[in-house]
Amino acid sequence: MVIKKFVNDLFKSNTYLIEYYLNKFLVIDPCDNNIFYKYLLDNSIELKYVFLTHEHIDHISGTNYLKKNNPKVKIVCSEYCSKAILDSKKNMSAFYNQNYVSVPANYIVNDFHKLRLLNNLELKLFPFGGHSLGGMFINIANLVFIGDQFIYNTKTVTKLPGGNIFELQRSYEFLKYQFNDETILYPGHGNKFLNKDLKIW
Ligand SMILES: [Zn+2]
Repeated sequence: MVIKKFVNDLFKSNTYLIEYYLNKFLVIDPCDNNIFYKYLLDNSIELKYVFLTHEHIDHISGTNYLKKNNPKVKIVCSEYCSKAILDSKKNMSAFYNQNYVSVPANYIVNDFHKLRLLNNLELKLFPFGGHSLGGMFINIANLVFIGDQFIYNTKTVTKLPGGNIFELQRSYEFLKYQFNDETILYPGHGNKFLNKDLKIW
């Protein structure tokens, strides 16, 4: 598994490009970023999946470009996220003068869901509120992509519409219980860290 991180201009969010098998790629949280697009073109990368950790603009603003350039790509997100990406107020872009309306999701996750990437490789999806209503953890092997739910050494933002401290607590306990200490957490901003260093503020 090869993971490449792009740090976007918009709020320094992270976009992850993952080669989960030879020449098979997925993206987590695509943001509008010419450096990222150029990398995809220069390396003739064809995407199989795009996963969204949540609906906020700094994690979704590349969906339209990617769908246009990879018509077969499947966009996967939680149910609330699938609605919010179509609404510039709910995806927050309206508040930053962007009015971004995404192409619709192709695959909607209501509850814990397993998705088979290859015969011997499963990806697990866990919808969770906390930072926003449409959050979802994405687990591959010993990695979990956690969006803005937890950022290393930073208090989680729960003041935005749909934020919920009780859901955040529930998701914290879930990560601690479900995954071992050495599981690597990849947040929506900043650096990756280990599950044993996960804290709730
Ligand atoms: Zn966010």
